[in-house]
Amino acid sequence: MNKSAGEKQGNLYMVATPIGNLEDITLRALRVLKEVDLIAAEDTRHSRILLNAYNIKTPLISLHEHNEKERSELIVSRIKNGISIAYISDAGTPCISDPGYHLVHIALENQISVIPVPGPSALITALSVCGFPADHFLFCGFLPPKENKRRRFLESIKDEEKTIIFYESPARIIDALKDVYDVLGDRQIVVARELTKVFEEIKRGWISDIVTERSVSKAKGEFTVILQGAFHGPVSLTDDEIQEKLLQLWAERTISLRDAVAEIVRRTGLSRKKVYDMAVKIRQAPDRN
Ligand code: SAM
Repeated sequence: MNKSAGEKQGNLYMVATPIGNLEDITLRALRVLKEVDLIAAEDTRHSRILLNAYNIKTPLISLHEHNEKERSELIVSRIKNGISIAYISDAGTPCISDPGYHLVHIALENQISVIPVPGPSALITALSVCGFPADHFLFCGFLPPKENKRRRFLESIKDEEKTIIFYESPARIIDALKDVYDVLGDRQIVVARELTKVFEEIKRGWISDIVTERSVSKAKGEFTVILQGAFHGPVSLTDDEIQEKLLQLWAERTISLRDAVAEIVRRTGLSRKKVYDMAVKIRQAPDRN
């Protein structure tokens, strides 16, 4: 593939593939996947669906987390012998919570050109619609699956002011969100499920509300979660907005005046007295009796 005269060594291409919708593949990715001599794929059966859709007949070999080390050696030796290879993971960008790092590392050690072919990644896709600042963010990959480790990890990012992103499996999403709520407090959150697919769903709200949503607790599929960074100072809300928040809370669930005030104070950082005075005003309004 595109080797200049006298050049013996091939290249390694790290190619991003769709995270669901097969149309999300770039023209360049299709060309590279057609032109390379070999495609190394995390799961060859899974990737064949994409390759068949675009009539790409390039031979495939597997490289997944359990054979990454030995396969990387083999791939590097073949590239040194003159063939070019593309690596694709099951979905999105290789190395992002996916195999590929070891392959890149040893390719670089062997002075092989490693060429990125960019495309989708679930974290960037979710970030682009989350509505939180995205100029700086912290991507955590998958949270630790065990509760004690997960809570310890969450403690370590408690004061992080940047927008926080993590991946989560449907089996653990509710437990993870409960831990986030307990350790980081109530925050605005975006739960993006099945991005780019038929059942794409993007839920926004407070963790305390989202965690009880049936559509999250019973949902299947792939989740990317985005959290507002730690908040160090009160939000500015008008009296009408505070009233609206209190009324919304009372419409959603039966909750005492004291608990409603505490919840709004925790969510917003506003002064307790201010929220309490608004709550009393609402409770005393004639149309609430
Ligand atoms: N390399 C991929 C990337 O660039 O996004 C991530 C691979 S990681 C093994 C898979 C996880 O990414 C899923 O468990 C889910 O948390 C997230 N993810 C992948 N596809 C997604 C989608 N379509 N919608 C939401 N999250 C997704």
